[in-house]
Amino acid sequence: MSTDDFTPGLNFIRTIIEADIRAGKNGGRVHTRFPPEPNGYLHIGHAKSICLNFGLAAEYQGLCNLRFDDTNPGKEDVEYVDSIMADVRWLGFHWADRLYYASDYFEKLYEFALHLIRNGKAYVCDLTAEQMRQYRGTLTECGLNSPCRERAPEESLDLFQRMRAGEFPDGAYVLRARIDMTSPNLNMRDPVLYRIRRESHHRTGDRWCIYPMYDYTHPISDALEGITHSICTLEFEDHRPFYDWVLDNLPVPCHPQQIEFARLNLNYTVMSKRKLLELVDKAYVRGWDDPRLPTLAGLRRRGYTPEAIRNFAELVGVAKRESMVDMALLEHCLREDLNRSARRVMAVLRPLKVVISNYPEGKVEEVDADNNPEDPSAGTRKLPFAREIYIEQDDFREDPPKKFFRLAPGREIRLKHAYYIRCDEVVKDAQGNITELRCTYDPESRGGSTKDGRKVLGTSHWVAAAHAVDVEVRLYDKLLSVPDPAADKEARDFKEFLNPASLEIVKNCKAEPSLAATAPGERFQFLRQGYFCVDSDSAPGKPVFNRSVTLRDSWAKIEKAQQEK
Ligand code: ATP
Ligand code: MG
Repeated sequence: MSTDDFTPGLNFIRTIIEADIRAGKNGGRVHTRFPPEPNGYLHIGHAKSICLNFGLAAEYQGLCNLRFDDTNPGKEDVEYVDSIMADVRWLGFHWADRLYYASDYFEKLYEFALHLIRNGKAYVCDLTAEQMRQYRGTLTECGLNSPCRERAPEESLDLFQRMRAGEFPDGAYVLRARIDMTSPNLNMRDPVLYRIRRESHHRTGDRWCIYPMYDYTHPISDALEGITHSICTLEFEDHRPFYDWVLDNLPVPCHPQQIEFARLNLNYTVMSKRKLLELVDKAYVRGWDDPRLPTLAGLRRRGYTPEAIRNFAELVGVAKRESMVDMALLEHCLREDLNRSARRVMAVLRPLKVVISNYPEGKVEEVDADNNPEDPSAGTRKLPFAREIYIEQDDFREDPPKKFFRLAPGREIRLKHAYYIRCDEVVKDAQGNITELRCTYDPESRGGSTKDGRKVLGTSHWVAAAHAVDVEVRLYDKLLSVPDPAADKEARDFKEFLNPASLEIVKNCKAEPSLAATAPGERFQFLRQGYFCVDSDSAPGKPVFNRSVTLRDSWAKIEKAQQEK
């Protein structure tokens, strides 16, 4: 992560927009759009684009459209359309009645193509795909004119109409713009506008057998919707001359300005839809909403909040230069949000039974526990305390190493919200495994301190054995074991870097009784363990929790180290 791109406040896009407003361009209007192709689920990179487009519109009292760029029927599907709408809404943005589909413009796009042909700006070409590649030239060599380039407009018109009518097989002809085969920009060397493709479209069915190319569709869709600033990622910079050419050569209502910014890259994960689709299709993960994926559906299931993601998008800012953002920053944003809002509870992931020998058998008392020390208005709850409890196996060592400030034989610790206990005896099974601890408690220490003011080494979380709820916990780690598989010198496939330990399932964890009734999506801090979110796999009486993020903030450390440099 390079923090010099860290520009909350004014960035180069806001600078452009503010200058346009001052100059009275577009009548001072700001109208943006978010234009996903419905060929996969949205990921955190798209979130950056959504926050940017909807965010700028809101900031400048403008509008933002949601537009599906659905010109490639083979890979698109209504499942993706629906998931994209759900994700944009979840992020907190609203398109009101401004939901558009490029496919709604198919008829107009066709009319515009006729217009270009009539004006000698487009022609029907019968070169094969392979020939087109050869004629195209390279970055150092000019292209060659197609033999069809001088075809009379009437003949191209006739052929194009018959392409639409389905008279020719797929691939027999294409419609191309007539620009300049010697242009140093390959995108200007008579790019294809339409191809024949017999594929059912998720919205237009079999009505069309010719489909417009994205680069031709996009500027026209923008213009038809009155977009003022068409914000896209850097790889479209070289396409901008063609974007402008299309608009300059057609009677469209306005000429939006294309502005490019660097896409978001996150380390230890994959973000291309093609790769995500492969992980889902080949069952490397459990679906598009697998909590290990950087998809919005996955992040949501993992326990991410829209606030955390919006804040992350603002923090990474926009730049003209590609960079790699540290996953730790995303996690930091989630922690900051959940620290404010998540209710604190106690759950023991790997239970060790403790019997408090001087606590009366059958007695149960209630201790008070605060729900969120960051937010007194969150109130308190009662926790049952009894003779038999569970603590974390990790919180006890028979032979404590130096700096182990938890329970050990003869030592005293505090049980959060309850009493001090001292370990008197370690009970083992025939194999020598520790099965139970025998402890005594100090009745004077209720609430966590004693009159004599004596110190204890540490504080442990716990749950009362008879009252505990059995829960399943899923612990997640990075999806990939290396920060950037694309940087691999041997160009190995990214799947070779999948982290085999990205998911650990821990069953029979013991949680405090308040966790018996929870709803999927509810978020908690398990004291000392991290933030957790109720998974949709939960069943009544069988809650499942995803660990959203640990409590350790590695981003804070990175930032501190950077400041000290
Ligand atoms: P992918 O490369 O993952 O397949 P895409 O660019 O083809 O993504 P689209 O559906 O076309 O996906 O993207 C919709 C919008 O989101 C576009 O404007 C695109 O520029 C933007 N976008 C996609 N990926 C990122 C990213 N990583 N960072 C910022 N914006 C992105
Ligand atoms: Mg795209």
